[in-house]
Amino acid sequence: MISSKMRPLVENNSVIRMMFEEGKVMAAKYGAENVFDFSLGNPNVPAPEEVKQAILDILENEDPVKVHGYMSNAGFPETRAAIAENLNRRFGTSFSERNIIMTVGAASGLNILLKTMLEPGNEVIALAPYFVEYGNYVRNYDGKLVVISSNPEGGFMPRLDELEQKITPKTKALIINNPNNPTGVIYPAEVIEQLAAVLEKKQKEYGTVIYMIADEPYRELAYGGADVPYLTKFYANTLVGYSYSKSLSLPGERIGYVVIPDESDGAQEFIDAAVIANRVSGSVNAPSLIQLVIARCVDAQCNVGYYERNGRTLYEALTKMGFECVEPQGAFYLWMKSPVADEKAFVAAAKKHNILFVPGSSFAGPGYVRISYCVSYEQIERSLPAFEALAKEYF
Ligand code: PLP
Repeated sequence: MISSKMRPLVENNSVIRMMFEEGKVMAAKYGAENVFDFSLGNPNVPAPEEVKQAILDILENEDPVKVHGYMSNAGFPETRAAIAENLNRRFGTSFSERNIIMTVGAASGLNILLKTMLEPGNEVIALAPYFVEYGNYVRNYDGKLVVISSNPEGGFMPRLDELEQKITPKTKALIINNPNNPTGVIYPAEVIEQLAAVLEKKQKEYGTVIYMIADEPYRELAYGGADVPYLTKFYANTLVGYSYSKSLSLPGERIGYVVIPDESDGAQEFIDAAVIANRVSGSVNAPSLIQLVIARCVDAQCNVGYYERNGRTLYEALTKMGFECVEPQGAFYLWMKSPVADEKAFVAAAKKHNILFVPGSSFAGPGYVRISYCVSYEQIERSLPAFEALAKEYF
């Protein structure tokens, strides 16, 4: 018999995953080229060639016992040192390998950070609309997710007055996902400064530590050279969770890291505890071969321009058809207003045209839908007549 903690998870199984499965069934029925699946954030741009070359070279030339073996729980020292050096060079930080722990993607990184910091009943704040798994991750450690709304008129920036009201003595962290899934917006430096100022004020008021957790799988997917502020520079109690799932198109390889800066509260104790959290949560040792790949490919880049072109093409076409969309600045998601209040009805209408996208209520953003455009450009082009037919139902 399953536990009572699992029961609601089974009942509310991810809408996104279900749509992805449904898309596969529809593709078998109608032909893959006639189904326009924009449901899942699974990168279609291939991993950079350097990644493949590094894998081949490591397998050919490195000691197989090392390549496939356990390593120290925080990860290979050379990988962590390469990451620290990369971050210091790009963001003017002063990390060393000590501050970096390799993780099984961002999902595991966030879980480790939360496991390390949360007492039962502690609160973690998310800025709506947000990645739906945050609630599950927080509940894993008997914490409570508190949601702050954002301002659609102001480019989906968080409502600072609401943040200030909702921080309590139990607040342990604020998660910031930048560039954002699902809106595709980038929170600029001035917004980060404002958020940091509220946290600083509340830390002082309550005499507590409130972490800012930067969830950064999309950091490198910023368009037109847009600046994605590096949060440790804005707020001392910042912890970073990074992933190569999207930036190097390696989601199935499960590789990422967390950064615990020396400036953060009780840093060394937190680092030691997070390494143990990594072990006892069962994700001990992030995949070894890919850790060694990262050490060699730390400066590699995927083709961000491909996503940018997809996003721009969809944005321009859908806007012209009459849909209201948020102009994409990064990540690979287009956030579109549903032409009817119940966006689930709109999602169902789109499905009749073989278009699959995700209702915004899955991200605490009802009235909107998320269109995930990490798909081939050809799929975008082929889907436009179907979107046109959908638009005709409303405008
Ligand atoms: N955070 C956000 C905002 C995401 O969108 C995702 C995945 O889509 C993750 C975390 C988890 O990423 P990973 O594959 O690195 O575990």
